Amino acid sequence: MLQVTHEIISSILSPLCDVASQRGIEIVCCDEKVRNCVPILCGWLADHMENVMIYGISSNWCPICITPPNEFGELVNPPYASRQHSKYAAAFHHTDIHILNSDGVKNINNVL
Ligand SMILES: [Zn+2]
Repeated sequence: MLQVTHEIISSILSPLCDVASQRGIEIVCCDEKVRNCVPILCGWLADHMENVMIYGISSNWCPICITPPNEFGELVNPPYASRQHSKYAAAFHHTDIHILNSDGVKNINNVL
């Protein structure tokens, strides 16, 4: 189910990755002038469970950092590192389940 959701997100967002979009698309603005626009995904409004789905993590993990769930609420110094999504992509492609599991990441081909 989660992999299917990511395939759907990939299908929806794929026009943003094609060559034409990277060079710009002519769009009529509200002042009726045609401008060359480069569409980008710059934000995504989501609650925790939607972030869990988007990031492909277990529901009791933080989508931003790798703080273990049993240490939530503790102020550690230095703080836990932010998630490295490129590391998870490499781990998925090399079938390194240990790296994924150690950070609460599910073994899916995450589109983002
Ligand atoms: Zn966090």
